[in-house]
Amino acid sequence: MTDNSEFDSHLYRTALAQLDRVAARLTLDRDIHERLRYPRRALVVSIPIRMDDGSTNIFIGYRVHHNTVLGPTKGGLRYDLGVNLGEVTALAMLMSWKCALMGLPYGGAKGGVRCDPRALSTRELENLTRRYTAEIILLIGPDLDIPAPDLGTDEQTMAWMMDTYSMTQGKSVPGVVTGKPLIVGGSAGRREATGRGIVYVLYQATRRLGHELRSRKVIVQGFGNVGAVAARLLWREGCTIVGVSDIKGGIWNPDGLDVRQLEAHVTEAGGVGGYPGADPISNVDLITQPCDILIPAAIGSQIREDNADRVKASIVAEGANGPTTPEADALLRERGVTVIPDILANAGGVVVSYFEWVQGLQYYFWRESEITSRLQEVMTRAFNRVWTLANKEGTDLRTAALMEGIRRVAEGYRVRGLYP
Ligand code: GLU
Repeated sequence: MTDNSEFDSHLYRTALAQLDRVAARLTLDRDIHERLRYPRRALVVSIPIRMDDGSTNIFIGYRVHHNTVLGPTKGGLRYDLGVNLGEVTALAMLMSWKCALMGLPYGGAKGGVRCDPRALSTRELENLTRRYTAEIILLIGPDLDIPAPDLGTDEQTMAWMMDTYSMTQGKSVPGVVTGKPLIVGGSAGRREATGRGIVYVLYQATRRLGHELRSRKVIVQGFGNVGAVAARLLWREGCTIVGVSDIKGGIWNPDGLDVRQLEAHVTEAGGVGGYPGADPISNVDLITQPCDILIPAAIGSQIREDNADRVKASIVAEGANGPTTPEADALLRERGVTVIPDILANAGGVVVSYFEWVQGLQYYFWRESEITSRLQEVMTRAFNRVWTLANKEGTDLRTAALMEGIRRVAEGYRVRGLYP
């Protein structure tokens, strides 16, 4: 096999190990398997930014297209200090499997800039986003590669990207990004989509396991775009939210939190810490507290070898990308914990991104109720397909989801053949 050490990172090694394991199970053609182990293209850029104090800082950014077999590439843009080529490449590969699993006409991509977005002013963030967009402009476009928000980026980031791209075209090009503000072509329900998708798969998972989703006790790690929405919708569904956390730490109340009041507190205080009527708890301890459902919706590698055997939940729904290490995954599997994998559990975001892209291309926008019912249909169908395959193959949901995603991409390669 060809040396691919430039992409080496913890997450890339995990992604390759997953691919290799599933390729063996699928008895994938050797050449196609080998092809899927590399990204199609990867761009590394340096981004000089004039800081507010007059100095200039250089930031390193990436955009990686894993494959373009099923359509233009799709995937988020993250601003985080942990960003590197290997991590972005692994996340692009995961997007390929996720899009294929959900039946979306996309290949996988990911982008990132290594920075601490909380340490930058709005003006610095805008300049960083515009210059990053200018540097990767050859790789993006509505029928080429369509970025979206991810860790550390949001609707505003997408509006700046869309504006920068549009300026170079001399016209408005809404289809170049998804997750935009509504006023410039965003979709109703996009902001809530990932959290809502988690609720739909949890509804199916609890039903299959013979429980009712209502009255389950839930812990949510990460109270951002994904976790806060999931917590609110599950609370409305009748679940007891016993613990939540953000980057600074968590809060815990075995009798349940009032999520509406908690959201008001977060708006005022800037975080969940200090919420009255709950005890403080560290992020590390929160994961192992008693509950029925655990939703890691923060960052990667949170459920690890050193805490997986103490996870009390019987269902883990991965809101983040890669929150469970392979060692922890094996421990959870041995203990009979049902893990709904990231490429299925958090796919609601990219599914509504697809709806947003389609609406933008047609200049025709759907009502929110239409978006949510179509999202529910897509999530439920994907969950049931994965559940059935897992039972048929006698395997876990992650393996089944990867089998389905990888099989589709490989089939695309097979029928398209090799150029030239
Ligand atoms: N960043 C999200 C993900 O990891 C959404 C990607 C998209 O909407 O393109 O799935």
